[in-house]
Amino acid sequence: STPAAITSGMAAATRRGVLIKGGAALEQLGQVQTIAFDKTGTLTEGKPTLTDILPIGALSERQLLMLAAAVEVGSHHPLAQAIIQRATEYGADLPLAQARLALAGVGVEGVVGGKTVLISAPGKLGLLGGKWQSQVENLESAGKTVVVVAEDGVPIGLLALRDTLRSDAKQAIAELNVLGVHGVILTGDNPRAAAAIASELALDYRAGLLPEDKVRVVTELSRQRPTAMIGDGINDAPAMKAASIGIAMGSGSDVALETADAALTHSRLLAVAEMIRIARATHANIR
Ligand code: ADP
Ligand code: MG
Repeated sequence: STPAAITSGMAAATRRGVLIKGGAALEQLGQVQTIAFDKTGTLTEGKPTLTDILPIGALSERQLLMLAAAVEVGSHHPLAQAIIQRATEYGADLPLAQARLALAGVGVEGVVGGKTVLISAPGKLGLLGGKWQSQVENLESAGKTVVVVAEDGVPIGLLALRDTLRSDAKQAIAELNVLGVHGVILTGDNPRAAAAIASELALDYRAGLLPEDKVRVVTELSRQRPTAMIGDGINDAPAMKAASIGIAMGSGSDVALETADAALTHSRLLAVAEMIRIARATHANIR
């Protein structure tokens, strides 16, 4: 009978580390034809490491890092964690930034020693002169994320960070291809780093997106075909809501988990294809 099929479908999903919030979500999952993936923390582990510290002007690497870390303290962004960790390894006391402000999808700012320190994606605030552009492009083409640190609007350095793909990402995408599900990466990160990952996974991508851009793209995709949005961050919650079905990485933020219709409890990307199979089979049993 119908309720029995749904109950056993949900149980099968739970065994594979997928929490599905109700029969309607299970049904939606079975119909998914497009999946939009957040990049950082979803396709990647979300634990970037700092690879390059490049002062512009008079600061030492250490001074640049300390200023950046002071502003990142309190931020839950994966990039912030990497910057703070490296600063802590340097072993010095961090200065404390006042009036910290997170700029969703752009960066973060705060006041240190009376000056406003801003950390942001290079493209987003147009801070950087042409002289540094090729440096940024080289780092980004290597799949890195570059952020500019500016003091009172003047660039004082670049930081580059690199994240690793989840070990099951490639196979997970291959399994989705078998099911005829089309994948696209939606990211606030730069187009070059996005392209590096997209080509490795053979996915389409849209880069440089603000959270509201992700909502717009997901809304468009959902109008065309049933679309799932998978994300982990606070920023992803609105796009997950706009999708036919929102899926949270279990390791993600509480907001993403609350918003989601389903969650991968072990951050296993392979579970995405598995749960679509289960949902389709459940649906077939109902009919
Ligand atoms: P994603 O879509 O990959 O999850 P976000 O939308 O969270 O990325 O951020 C987009 C970009 O904004 C990052 O790649 C980074 O350049 C910049 N950014 C956002 N928050 C921070 C932060 N706390 N520190 C430094 N850079 C940040
Ligand atoms: Mg993210």
